Amino acid sequence: MTTINAYGATAATKPLGPMTIERRELGPRDVLIEIKFCGICHSDIHSARNEWGSAAYPVVPGHEIAGIVARVGSEVTRHAVGDRVGVGCLVDSCGDCANCRKGEEQHCLKGFTGTYGSVGQDGNPTQGGYSTHIVVRENFVLKIPEGIALDAAAPLLCAGITTYAPLRHWGAGPGKKVAVVGLGGLGHMAVKLAHAMGAEVTVLSQSLSKKEDGLRLGADHYHATKDPETFKKLAGTFDLIVNTVSAKIDVNAYLSLLALDGVLVNVGAPPEPLAVNVFSLIMTRRSFAGSLIGGIRQTQEMLDFCAKHHLGSDIEVIPASKINEAYERVLASDVRYRFVVDTATLKE
Ligand code: NAP
Ligand code: ZN
Repeated sequence: MTTINAYGATAATKPLGPMTIERRELGPRDVLIEIKFCGICHSDIHSARNEWGSAAYPVVPGHEIAGIVARVGSEVTRHAVGDRVGVGCLVDSCGDCANCRKGEEQHCLKGFTGTYGSVGQDGNPTQGGYSTHIVVRENFVLKIPEGIALDAAAPLLCAGITTYAPLRHWGAGPGKKVAVVGLGGLGHMAVKLAHAMGAEVTVLSQSLSKKEDGLRLGADHYHATKDPETFKKLAGTFDLIVNTVSAKIDVNAYLSLLALDGVLVNVGAPPEPLAVNVFSLIMTRRSFAGSLIGGIRQTQEMLDFCAKHHLGSDIEVIPASKINEAYERVLASDVRYRFVVDTATLKE
């Protein structure tokens, strides 16, 4: 075991603070990563504050990890010391069930091992990327292509794959009208990715305050959802709506914006149930779906796609001491568009 510096929560109602955690000794198939940057996902906030009801403390959040390989186990073949690598929300799965065999490790039938909040190979709780180092099985370590800076790459490991996967699954591309609800961390990546895939992209944000940014990120249209006219004007328009909102919204209002056979896919994960009126689905044969991050193979595909299209996340790099402040700003929708922790500030 190696003791390292980290930043985490000891209770749902207390601010996060500096702490030390243990990382397991390197097994033959393990990679030791020196973490350089870690994005702050809204899921970190849901988890640190136990909003999903499954938290165990202490918890070190962080599943948007970018760093450099510091050491490799004796049987590691995929990665070498000095490689630029990333780790997302998954650090292990059974590898053997039907879903793992399909490359959908996030749907492992035995339950995947989360980067934090799970139990690791060594029987200890896993702890995330607001820390200086992490030990991960080589199959769950992604390669970050040269063209993407490490800080801008970190959020791709969750915000990137979580939006890329449903856009691919439901065929975003030329001739498809895609709407993105919420222009935060996930939303801004959804806009960039859907635009790069060739879809006609609309942002549905609470207000028009980020309109200029939305258009710069690749949106063709931008509307405020607080304006009731928006729902009248856009009724029956979209083939695909990706809802990234972290809070409860009126899904029936958004379902009414779908065209024939349109799909509203929820990636936002508010703790409260969302009430669906069946008539919202019956009319024009609409679907309401969900999507969870993405598998390892597709995560690498997304990173390579981003490199090819010169995409990274729009970020604000902060020291670890500003994590609590950043959480408040995320909750106030005051994020442009992902906070990224510079983990060098944990060494002090
Ligand atoms: P975020 O940066 O806070 O973005 C959420 C955006 O939703 C906000 O920027 C805001 O956009 C909008 N919003 C917030 N509160 C709202 C409200 N009350 N009504 C309407 N719109 C509201 O969060 P994120 O990191 O992108 O994560 C978003 C959600 O996805 C979280 O629930 C997170 O846990 C979940 N998530 C799910 C997965 C998955 O695999 N399914 C993976 C990662 C994260 P505007 O200001 O533009 O309106
Ligand atoms: Zn996340």
